[in-house]
Amino acid sequence: MTLARFKMCIDGQWVDALSGKTFKSLDPSSAEAWAELPDADQADVEQAVQAAQKAFENPAWRNLSATGRGKLLRRLGDLIADNKEHLAQLESRDNGKLIRETRGQVNYLPEFFHYTAGLADKLEGGTLPLDKPDMFAYTTHEPLGVVAGIIPWNSPLYLTAIKLAPALAAGNTIVLKPSEHASATILELARLALEAGFPAGVVNVVTGFGPSTGAALTRHPLVRKIAFTGGAATARHVVRSSAENFARLSLELGGKSPNIIFADADLDSAINGAVAGIYAASGQSCVAGSRLLVQEDIYDDFVERLIERASRIRIGNPQDDASEMGPMATAQQLAVVEGLVADALAEGARLRLGGKRPAIDARGWYYEPTLLECDSHSMKIMQEEVFGPVASVIRFKDEAQALAMANDSQFGLAAGIWTRDLGRAHRMAKGVRSGIVWVNTYRAVSAMAPIGGFNNSGYGRESGIDSVLAYTELKTVWINLSQEPMPDPFVMR
Ligand code: NAD
Repeated sequence: MTLARFKMCIDGQWVDALSGKTFKSLDPSSAEAWAELPDADQADVEQAVQAAQKAFENPAWRNLSATGRGKLLRRLGDLIADNKEHLAQLESRDNGKLIRETRGQVNYLPEFFHYTAGLADKLEGGTLPLDKPDMFAYTTHEPLGVVAGIIPWNSPLYLTAIKLAPALAAGNTIVLKPSEHASATILELARLALEAGFPAGVVNVVTGFGPSTGAALTRHPLVRKIAFTGGAATARHVVRSSAENFARLSLELGGKSPNIIFADADLDSAINGAVAGIYAASGQSCVAGSRLLVQEDIYDDFVERLIERASRIRIGNPQDDASEMGPMATAQQLAVVEGLVADALAEGARLRLGGKRPAIDARGWYYEPTLLECDSHSMKIMQEEVFGPVASVIRFKDEAQALAMANDSQFGLAAGIWTRDLGRAHRMAKGVRSGIVWVNTYRAVSAMAPIGGFNNSGYGRESGIDSVLAYTELKTVWINLSQEPMPDPFVMR
């Protein structure tokens, strides 16, 4: 097969790595290489960061009004809409996600740019009601400088949009480092940003591996903020890097989200919600509802119905409109899933569905929708993120036990609650320690709704009205109104 060849975007130019090195991206549905990309090292990262710093100081960007930045963002959103089918096909090809899922995400993508465009000129500072009559003071929100955006492979466009749009709205410049497993659509996004009219160097993309390209970027002294989405182990490297440059950090990490089904729930909806939570996107979702907590009165019925529904899921080529579950994005991820299921069985979990690769005519990294019944919430499969189509289910007696189980986790990204009882919905929503709570729904996102986690699911929030503020510094300006000479210089005023 002829390989698609990509170049990186540095300072508005399309370039190879200075070393000439490349790496191949594999198609998860066939396990074959389909694209070749530059393998950036420290020298390339240096160029990208210097270009971003130069663009930050360039009057064409620095002096552009907030309204002007908003207009560029709106145009970028429009260009994404014009190119939506191309972007959806490319992302599905690159990371193996269902075309229906990537289409859904790309159709909504312009909203992130349009919504954030409207925030660009609403970054208002304040005047301070000072207790010093001869002084006047006000605050302004100013851009940070160069932002590093580190992106995982599971939803590259979406997870880039929620960093790129607010970073640009606030007047920063950015160097994006997409995952080595799914870089293609982020390079296309940089092309559209140039077409929209962002000056050269405002948006740069370096492609390559985490420990080399990613680490060189996150520890660079000119990087003022790192917006990271990925796993906890990588996040620890990133936090250590930030000890060098004191970069501001936002960390969107993994989860082991509880999907809690009470006996009074609409069971048809709850079954669909459980499927959406763990089998959609083959479970490769940070908010996957991988812990199913089910009230004992309906437990047996729920499990039977879930098995019946999940066993009808059509596994197949992600590019096929009829497929409902595609492959794991990488061979390593498939091995991780297989290992965690084996550990769960060794620990006493009962396999009720799946637990193996499907017998389909494809060489890709497919895994069947899997359900494991557990008697103890302390089992590893109830505590560790799988990032695959593996749900572990356990019964609970009452609300108090459901809440205790829900919060018995190192994570705290999302939770689902299924009940018709309004009071219970609010009590549970208040009690659950997670950044997102969905009641009688799951996996809903909006440009207006902040996402982010409690506990080991990270810190900082993306999306929503405050997202742009997270890309600014607050400055306080003091004006002396007095006509008197400066008083005693040795006393604080
Ligand atoms: P990962 O942590 O392996 O990689 C994420 C990114 O970090 C990649 O671009 C990688 O190249 C880079 N990286 C790796 N080592 C690095 C280093 N030393 N320095 C700097 N960068 C480095 O994650 P992944 O496997 O791509 O994605 C899966 C993980 O992401 C899961 O844990 C999932 O839950 C999480 N995730 C979270 C969210 C969220 O919004 N909370 C969304 C999607 C995925």
